Amino acid sequence: MTQTWLTVDCDDFRHIPKHYGHPTRSKSPLDSNELSPEFKLGMRSFKNWLANHDKPVTLFVIADALQNPEFCHWLSNLIEQFGQRITIGCHGLTHKSWSAWPEDPESFQDSITKATDEISRFAKDNFRPWFRAPAGYMAPWMVKPLIECGITVDSSINDTLLTKSKAGRGNTWAQVRAACQESSLIQREWLTKWRLPVNGPALSLFPLSILARRAWQSLPPVLTTNQLSDTVENNTIQITTVYWHILDHAKLNGKWHPPVDETILNH
Ligand SMILES: [Zn+2]
Repeated sequence: MTQTWLTVDCDDFRHIPKHYGHPTRSKSPLDSNELSPEFKLGMRSFKNWLANHDKPVTLFVIADALQNPEFCHWLSNLIEQFGQRITIGCHGLTHKSWSAWPEDPESFQDSITKATDEISRFAKDNFRPWFRAPAGYMAPWMVKPLIECGITVDSSINDTLLTKSKAGRGNTWAQVRAACQESSLIQREWLTKWRLPVNGPALSLFPLSILARRAWQSLPPVLTTNQLSDTVENNTIQITTVYWHILDHAKLNGKWHPPVDETILNH
């Protein structure tokens, strides 16, 4: 039986493809690095949700978010209050959708070097050299630069019928998977059901939300804090990886929480 890895992406509105980082989807940039009111509510509600159980969560942080003092304050507080229950991975220097652009391994490597420097300096012992591609845009050519940057685990593959183009022009997810296997990059793919997405936006996008909730209701037990790092970094152990956003916690007036069954959360 596998176990579940809980992961959260820390994007605010200004980071998402509608506003930033995609050659055709980004139409209206939000330039200020101020946190949106929804993100602030999400931060508070996420923290409350964490206080209700004892399971670990990995946060994927965008390095440019560390320019905002309020975000930094929240993140250091989380680390202080929850210790090793909080692990922090890299979600890019900015939220650029790399595989939607022409191949550029050099700039990609530079940006991830800078991002991991900044995030690890901030998160210290809570940092892990784990990567999630911004907006899930992950191409085979990105694997080598990630290895060069010391990344050990990638969690970007979302092998569904609706997200084929995110593997980059002319590529398939099978090629991304193969590129990881040929290198030493461990791949922690997102949970899918019937080749459809059940994470992130799918949690609230009808009718995918119905399928997503059903998939989440039958998740295996959640990894414990002591097991987390060794398990995630052990290629021979299969795990079930799910993710949602801090912004999700702003929904339902801050009452939203990930649809993880109470019994496996408090197992
Ligand atoms: Zn993101």
